[in-house]
Amino acid sequence: MSTAQPRLKRERKRSREIFERAENVLVGGVNSPVRAFKSVGGEPLIIERGSGQYLYDADGNELLDYVCSWGAMILGHANPAISEAIAEQARRGTSFGVTTELELELATLITRAIPFIEKIRFVSSGTEATMSAVRLARGVTKQDFIVKFEGCYHGHADSFLSQAGSGLATLGIAECPGVPAPLAALTLNVPYNNLGAVERVFSQHKGKIAAVIVEPIAANMGVVVPETDFLKGLHEICKKNGALLIVDEVITGFRLRNGSVQDNFGVEADLTTLGKIIGGGVPVAAYGGRAELMDQVAPLGPVYQAGTLAGNPLAMSAGIAALKQLTKPGLYDEITQMAQRLAVGLCAGLAEAGIPGEVNAIGSLATVFFTLGPVKNYANAKRSDTKRYARFFREMLDRGIFLAPSQFEAAFVSAVHTPQDIDRTLAAAHEAFQVISSESAD
Ligand SMILES: *Cc1c(COP(=O)(O)O)cnc(C)c1O
Repeated sequence: MSTAQPRLKRERKRSREIFERAENVLVGGVNSPVRAFKSVGGEPLIIERGSGQYLYDADGNELLDYVCSWGAMILGHANPAISEAIAEQARRGTSFGVTTELELELATLITRAIPFIEKIRFVSSGTEATMSAVRLARGVTKQDFIVKFEGCYHGHADSFLSQAGSGLATLGIAECPGVPAPLAALTLNVPYNNLGAVERVFSQHKGKIAAVIVEPIAANMGVVVPETDFLKGLHEICKKNGALLIVDEVITGFRLRNGSVQDNFGVEADLTTLGKIIGGGVPVAAYGGRAELMDQVAPLGPVYQAGTLAGNPLAMSAGIAALKQLTKPGLYDEITQMAQRLAVGLCAGLAEAGIPGEVNAIGSLATVFFTLGPVKNYANAKRSDTKRYARFFREMLDRGIFLAPSQFEAAFVSAVHTPQDIDRTLAAAHEAFQVISSESAD
């Protein structure tokens, strides 16, 4: 076995100093909660630059990155074509407040790759995309209830904040203050991978449900894979009851293939949301679907939704440069092979160290759960020993490897990770698992 990376070289003095100053002016020193490392402990990272599969912190430490900006950076950091496209557009102007041909170009790349998205609307964050898709579903069906799954995350709009994944799972926020109770009551939570539970809420709220929103692969409670026919079954229930299916592909879109992961599961949602990868690391998200549905959005229809910086030319240029590179033959097979090598190795490492664990992996997504038995839903995921995950995270970071700073997030493998990177990661994991198993022996 190859040796793990040496310990981080320097005291992270400068990072600490910057973070302490940040805490005075930014809430918790961050602009998104999980960045504060609250559930894993240790010093939050302050990053100065990225290149390929690496991040460099303010103290000059090199970190092998499996967070990849929460999945957005599938081509690695500072991808030359994306950087060049942004720089060139910046010289022509950064925002015009009216339409550019770039919007047409990115829309065409997306609708060609995902033909059941006939028309699309660009927004600037995944939250806006899912929020707008739900508004459209409510506007079209004239119903108010929505169904979502425990442990799925769809951004931070009011309707999505109960029993949600990602940062809410990380911080243990089950219900969010500030969301009016009458609005929260319109969100019906059911367990992931449980069609029977979906059937039941539909019979309890007959004719009143506007939409079901789902992550086609759940990646915000850690990775949880849908069972065969779960997504198909959902769509059938929706059709039978006059509700719309919204498939939230903010993570999965262009992550497992050049297009939608729905093709893997034989579904074509009424509405699909995209984000992260389609912006090439710049804020872009979108919602889209059949033309007759999307034509209900203003200016063609009465469902209002707008954005000052929506379709921003810098962001469109970055997205175009990213998606053009994702058509390369064999690219996704290679990324998947890397991720499989990682998942299989982690599984073996757990077994060797005698640590009860499960590795859920699909495509280029993976999560280590410190629990026995399959993880098929949020209740299963919550059984994971998050203290062990925190230990694992810190031991890996100490060896120069940056995993998600929360049990309830995915590890993302990118097109620039190499077999050597994976082997180095597994060597580090081997050492980390030894530390964990010796601690639990105490
Ligand atoms: C990240 C994410 C969102 C929210 O996107 P933001 O750009 O952070 O608002 C929505 N849905 C899913 C599945 C996500 O992973």
